[in-house]
Amino acid sequence: MTAESFLKLKEFDSLEKMKLHHQKQIQEQEERLSLLNNKKQEKLNSQKQLLNDLHALEQQYFESEKKLKTAEAQASGLRDIGADESKIQQFQSDAAKLENELFGLLEQTEQIQQELNEAKTFLSGLEKTILEIDTEVSGEREEHQKAIAQLDLRLVLIKEELPTDFREALEKTLKKKLAIGPFTRIENGSCYFCRYKISRVEESEIDMQKMLKHCPQCTRIFLPYGAS
Ligand SMILES: [Zn+2]
Repeated sequence: MTAESFLKLKEFDSLEKMKLHHQKQIQEQEERLSLLNNKKQEKLNSQKQLLNDLHALEQQYFESEKKLKTAEAQASGLRDIGADESKIQQFQSDAAKLENELFGLLEQTEQIQQELNEAKTFLSGLEKTILEIDTEVSGEREEHQKAIAQLDLRLVLIKEELPTDFREALEKTLKKKLAIGPFTRIENGSCYFCRYKISRVEESEIDMQKMLKHCPQCTRIFLPYGAS
């Protein structure tokens, strides 16, 4: 009778592990999607930065163009009244410097516009990929959720089939939500998980007499030798 109950516990354990596997698969699928969405957000941020830079450049271009017009007007005004040649040359040289500056600003603007075009192309490609992956992920998620639902049904049934002492021990241990599940076994005279030393007497009670016992330290249920 208890041997049969331990077999049920063992089945419970392996179904829980299968469930965990499906949950992990769902998580991996969702990570694929969130990775792409992060990439998209990064690109959107850099696109925003580029637009800010472009705006600043346009503003700078506008200011420098105004200064250039003023310098040119002043040079020609001075020439008209026959002013000193050195003064005229000063304004002409200012105008030349401003012209160079404008040329540099135009180059930077073109560079940014090119980067903006590239970002746009990248984003529209990424958008398409995200849609495709989203469909894939939804399909996968649904498959795994179906499998989990079936496992859950079987897990409930197993609990119902267990004798009361086994069921209560299992429920109590499950509530603790221990990492890697509620079961352990004896390995080299110790609890497999927490390495707590188990006496020879207890080891024989668990493995030979198939008694239901918990590890005194980590509280996991011992599955006897042959059942785990
Ligand atoms: Zn233990």
